[in-house]
Amino acid sequence: MSHVFPRHCHANLPTAVAGDGCYLIDSDGKRYFDASGGAAVSCLGHSNEPVRAAIKAQIDTLAFAHTGFFTSDPAEQLADLLVANAPEGIDRVYFVSGGSEAVEAAIKLARQYYLEIGQPERRNLIARRQSYHGNTLGALAAGGNAWRRQQFDPLLIGVSHIAPCYEYAERGAEESLADYGLRVANELEEEILRLGPETVMAFVAEPVVGATLGAVPAVEGYYTRIREICDQYGVLLILDEVMCGMGRTGHLFACEGEGVRPDIITIAKGLGAGYQPVGAMLCSSAIYDAIAKGSGFFQHGHTYIGHPTATAAGLAVVKQLLDPAMMPRVRELGGLVEQALHSTLGQHAHVGDIRGRGLFWGVELVEDQETKTPFDAGRGLAGKIKKAAVAEGLICYPMPGTRDGRSGDHVLLAPPFIMSDDDPQLIATRLARAFDIALG
Ligand code: PMP
Repeated sequence: MSHVFPRHCHANLPTAVAGDGCYLIDSDGKRYFDASGGAAVSCLGHSNEPVRAAIKAQIDTLAFAHTGFFTSDPAEQLADLLVANAPEGIDRVYFVSGGSEAVEAAIKLARQYYLEIGQPERRNLIARRQSYHGNTLGALAAGGNAWRRQQFDPLLIGVSHIAPCYEYAERGAEESLADYGLRVANELEEEILRLGPETVMAFVAEPVVGATLGAVPAVEGYYTRIREICDQYGVLLILDEVMCGMGRTGHLFACEGEGVRPDIITIAKGLGAGYQPVGAMLCSSAIYDAIAKGSGFFQHGHTYIGHPTATAAGLAVVKQLLDPAMMPRVRELGGLVEQALHSTLGQHAHVGDIRGRGLFWGVELVEDQETKTPFDAGRGLAGKIKKAAVAEGLICYPMPGTRDGRSGDHVLLAPPFIMSDDDPQLIATRLARAFDIALG
């Protein structure tokens, strides 16, 4: 009997024993093409030599030093590199061990910032429905996935949720893209006014929505309006790039591609590329300086923040992401994925939408294409697709609809940036077979 507490108690999982480029290999020798990097983690594949070498060298020199006593070279160098390539105004980096921790740090930083500048009444956070920001209680409260929140609700802090920017399912038949974007962005202003502008500290959103909707970018103009509203009411804009950041959309920071300037950014997943658990929260000097000149102490911290080995891995990853050929290659491969998905699945009777950015793609399934009606949740389609895909040797990331009747089951694809030109078609072909098996 296994003593591991698995994610699904009754899952009978294969044992992964090796990683080789785009492939994972199990104890029976079966090879799986990793088209989702687990959950958008393994951007450089599974056997990246520079990252492995950097980790070994770091462990041999200095595995760990507590940030209460020391800083370290890899943490300093990685922070320098991130800031040099971050959106304008972002110039401080707080390292953590993962995405939820980054979001928790961002929420607490926003709160402490307003305390430091003498606006203690600003404690409300606004987020969006059908979003995911992590599984710790604060991050779960920020997220707007009803199913994930349900049983923990009494423990969650009060956060209000506005509409996502989810054009496929929610734009009115007569509404232009621009009008739709403006309408849903203006919900932020309405919510700020409802709560009282002097009580709102921050708005948090994913520039390209990952796990809950499946690679959904906002329509053009949405984030311009969001930024305007945040500026008008003094609300901090936190962009959660835990999934869509670190080159995934074809830009090191996804917000650059979406044309929006945040006050705080969270990253993780692709930062360590699966080689080490590492994430970060980045913020503007305005926020940092308020704390530096005020109490001088960010009232937060975990034992492993700024971990030398984890940041050494992150440094080796980011150096590769900044290779001048890398982001153009992500965008080029993204074009091939788009083509392969459209040519293989575009005519499928139950494929409602194919959308994405860079190497971040979502395929949404619907029962009825005309009405965009999702499959009944009881059918468990996402789970069946996952099982069929694994049998076909494909790791993808199927998720059920958000069970509010609006979004359908979808599959998220986040393949490695190192794949070949032929791999997008391999992914599409295996995915199509998995759909056919699951839809039976
Ligand atoms: N934010 C977003 C946008 C995410 O996609 C995730 C993970 N899927 C998280 C936060 C939480 O990250 P972690 O699982 O590393 O805690």
